[in-house]
Amino acid sequence: MKSSSELELKDVSRESGQMTTVGMDELMDLPLDVAKMPWKPLTAEQQDKYCCVLDDLVVLQIPRPKTPAEEEDLVNKFLDGMRKLFSSQDNWPYLSLLETSTEYCAQCNSCAESCHLFEATNGHEMYRPNFRSEIFRRIYKQYVKKEPLAKWRYGDTDLNWQTVARLGELAYRCNLCRRCAQTCPIGVDNALIAREIRKLFSQELGINPPELHEKGSMLQMRTGSSTAMDPQVVRDNVAFIDEDYSEITGYEFKTPWDVEGADILLLHNAGEVMAWPENIAAFSIIFQAAGLSWTLSSELAGYDGINYGNFYDDAQAMRVVRLHAQAAKKLGVKKIVIGECGHAHKAADRMQPPEFNVPRESCFPLLRDIVMSGKIAFDPSRNNFPVTLNDSCNVVRHMGIVKPQRDIMHRLCPQFREMYPHGVNSYCCGGGSGFAIMSRNNIEIWRNNISGRKKMDQIAGAFADCLGPETKKYICAPCSNCKGQIREMLAHNDLMEKNSFQYGGIVELIVNAMVDVKPGFIKWEEE
Ligand code: SF4
Ligand code: SF4
Repeated sequence: MKSSSELELKDVSRESGQMTTVGMDELMDLPLDVAKMPWKPLTAEQQDKYCCVLDDLVVLQIPRPKTPAEEEDLVNKFLDGMRKLFSSQDNWPYLSLLETSTEYCAQCNSCAESCHLFEATNGHEMYRPNFRSEIFRRIYKQYVKKEPLAKWRYGDTDLNWQTVARLGELAYRCNLCRRCAQTCPIGVDNALIAREIRKLFSQELGINPPELHEKGSMLQMRTGSSTAMDPQVVRDNVAFIDEDYSEITGYEFKTPWDVEGADILLLHNAGEVMAWPENIAAFSIIFQAAGLSWTLSSELAGYDGINYGNFYDDAQAMRVVRLHAQAAKKLGVKKIVIGECGHAHKAADRMQPPEFNVPRESCFPLLRDIVMSGKIAFDPSRNNFPVTLNDSCNVVRHMGIVKPQRDIMHRLCPQFREMYPHGVNSYCCGGGSGFAIMSRNNIEIWRNNISGRKKMDQIAGAFADCLGPETKKYICAPCSNCKGQIREMLAHNDLMEKNSFQYGGIVELIVNAMVDVKPGFIKWEEE
């Protein structure tokens, strides 16, 4: 097993065993009391069943080939998939950027410093964004493009089953945050390469994380939601939320369902219904108070904006986005508005097939317009505690929605302070690209040790003047996946008690400041 300083690209083809590890003493220090969680050794059974050949975690669970024929089959299927990635017939939406990212990297490594994983591990070689990409490029040029002299020009890469298995896993040592792509002076997109590898494994080899596929997009298409809530269950739950929060807030409201011809179909991440009902309630209160014409849909997947296909499989992503568009068409709404979910924003906006042509937009400009319209009376002194804002990579860097959230913050939160850096330069929360919902084979340890580390550093920095239990502090994370990741990191380290941190969305802050609502909508740990 190679350490970071010993690791070289050619190690990806080494015969057997785990390629590398990240030691606890290699991790970046934090100004918060955050526990380092040791890796749990992978069991003999896991090692026999799956290709455990990269590092200490196993995301993909690639079945370990047992015979030379199976080894060859894995390599050949991988190459078939790679050919399709570079075929205009099979991969027209992404081919141009993939070719740019494959052909034009200058090997300058300017992108390395922009990656939160590279920084959190004090520059571990495996987390250099170009490490994974360069293996991909070399295989492509040597075995698919068959570029003359490729192995002399770029380095000879032995393509065996270990190379394939390690590259597949490497595609899941990235949050697809595209901070590196934004940094690259040439426009090379290492996140795209990681996602294309994920896609190849799913669409060509049928290998994908079960949380994203069987328990994610497949379950959503079967039942209507990756939470497994069918339409009746979700309606019952939301009716309960209406009743409960009408009483809590003293503001009588009712969430509308299946209103034909409404202006807006609001598409929540259905996980909010179960995990954060106050978010569902807050949207309903604000939309009712603003007098909007709006509805939820109880069509299949019409009430769940989640689209995990976005992270690993184009076909699955398109199937889910079609269900969303069909629900909107059936009701005849004027537009879809996406609730607080980053990847749902991107999938709904960028992946809708042109034949549907349903206008869709983020909730943030609409919320900003409501807050600024004067239709609702606010008392910002109710939010007079330190607040910072987590930028979802999908909403902010990928979709360019930066200012509306901040307009709301400046209007309603007297002690708002930014993280540094923020906006399009913000760092991933560490749960991006599906990791927030995975917990097995050391993945949760990876999130807490490595992928979420930089975000914790940013949160500590934003509240540097008031750390400790005396001052209540609110981390506004208006994205369901970010919120889940932040919740986990706070809970694992008792930071809600030790530092009086609370987390939640932006609509909760809006309702917390509404004059027509009883004070105290946001609940703190001790309440
Ligand atoms: S991806 Fe861009 S920034 Fe990174 S090494 Fe290549 S050219 Fe340099
Ligand atoms: S996309 Fe994000 S996580 Fe992935 S290599 Fe680039 S900066 Fe790192």
